[in-house]
Amino acid sequence: RKRVIRISTGSKGLDAVLGGGFQTMSISEVFGEFRCGKTQLSHTMSVIAQLPKDMGGAEGKVAYIDTEGTFRPERIAQIAERFGVDPETAQDNITYARAVNSEHQMELLNKVAEFFVGNEYRLLIIDSIMALFRVDYTGRGELNERQQKLNQFLSKLTHVAEEFNVAVLMTNQVQSDPGANALFAGADGRKPVGGHILAHASATRILLRKGRGEERVAKIQDSPDMPEKEATYIITNGGIND
Ligand code: ADP
Ligand code: MG
Repeated sequence: RKRVIRISTGSKGLDAVLGGGFQTMSISEVFGEFRCGKTQLSHTMSVIAQLPKDMGGAEGKVAYIDTEGTFRPERIAQIAERFGVDPETAQDNITYARAVNSEHQMELLNKVAEFFVGNEYRLLIIDSIMALFRVDYTGRGELNERQQKLNQFLSKLTHVAEEFNVAVLMTNQVQSDPGANALFAGADGRKPVGGHILAHASATRILLRKGRGEERVAKIQDSPDMPEKEATYIITNGGIND
């Protein structure tokens, strides 16, 4: 029988408000403005997922679907050093794929799911979920079609997470101007893109924002088992930390 594993974020404070980290067999979403640390969190967790369980890891491999071209193997090496892991081993345990359009993003997910058969993958990163969908479907008249394709992608993600006991971490952007939707946005007026279809797919949703100085703030907005709490974290050479 498969058991849920919690994978650490690299920040003890953030882990605490998450109840120990991000869960396998589930989709978690982090959303927020540019430079708040979504990609750095993705890199950090790609290393931690490989660690022994007593270090917050899941002793597994990682698949990384990059839609914005911001993956940096050098960062993986630096984060690996923080945890005393061989940098090359850490890089080799990450199956990396760069998606160039939304259709390709779907194809890559199908390929990744094939790799999961008979292999111990424990983390799947999608950084970021909506970027290519937003480019491929720009007009108002295309919104229905976009949401349909997005729904197909998310259904597959849910299936993969459950079947292979994998934690899915997807990053997301915020609407630059919540405008007419401001009523539905958080107190700070920031709302993730992707509509109700994305909201429904994510079991856990976390808003990231900049705090004072180098500080960043993570706020749980949606969780199956944790209250709406905040935690602060910083971005270091070794990845996300307290
Ligand atoms: P997002 O994906 O949310 O747009 P990123 O995860 O790319 O944001 O985070 C960018 C931030 O991470 C920048 O403020 C940058 O200074 C910081 N950062 C990147 N690398 C390092 C590092 N090695 N040490 C400290 N901070 C870093
Ligand atoms: Mg990013």
